[in-house]
Amino acid sequence: MSELKYRRILLKLSGEALLGDGRCGIDAAILQRLAAEICDLCRAGVQTAVVIGGGNIIRGAEKAAEGLDRVTSDHMGMLGTVINALAMQDAIENLGLPVRVMSALKINQVCEDYIRRRAVRHLEKGRVVIFAAGTGNPFFTTDSAASLRAVEINADILIKATKVDGVYSADPKKDANATFYSRLTFDQALDQRLNVMDATALVLCRDHRIPLRVMNVFEDGAVMRLVHGEEIGSLIE
Ligand code: UDP
Repeated sequence: MSELKYRRILLKLSGEALLGDGRCGIDAAILQRLAAEICDLCRAGVQTAVVIGGGNIIRGAEKAAEGLDRVTSDHMGMLGTVINALAMQDAIENLGLPVRVMSALKINQVCEDYIRRRAVRHLEKGRVVIFAAGTGNPFFTTDSAASLRAVEINADILIKATKVDGVYSADPKKDANATFYSRLTFDQALDQRLNVMDATALVLCRDHRIPLRVMNVFEDGAVMRLVHGEEIGSLIE
């Protein structure tokens, strides 16, 4: 393959990506597949940091709508991301690569506390770093956590791996006239309220010039082709 285009990436995986056909929890086969892709990236020399969502376990806003206190339900949501991160750590370690889970909430009997300089050091040593517990604050999302960490570690790109191929003008499953954008600006995504990431996440990337790729997580080897410069999914910059 060609030279690496991106040497340090932040890969955002939604919790939903881990769901498979189930309604809740982690699908073992999908976890293995994603772990193998992350290993391939690392072995190719890409410094790989990962943020995993928690939507397969708990979404704070949904629990709050059922009557739970919102801050408590967001704390539960953040703990869900830790569960996913530990599962991914285990799957990657089984494939022989060192991993560090770093949590924005202090649970240091389970994983490391998030310390930026230490995270960068782990990456430089070729360890996969999984950022858990989002930003550590309620009312935020793991998309915001992904853009925040991407800026902090000075990632070359933020890759949002989703169940769709990229950014569309409308939901392609519901609207036959939905058009696909292979390239767009952050302002376009914000102004047109396109379903890319929440506004906080987009603004952080825009203001700190971190390009964002939205792509399908279920396309085998796609992230590897992307880091080698292939145009995959949608590019927002
Ligand atoms: N969450 C939070 N603060 C953060 C990140 C996440 O409170 O900085 C909580 C929030 O309740 C959210 C849940 O964790 O619903 C799971 O994260 P998210 O919904 O972003 O996961 P995804 O949709 O990516 O699976």
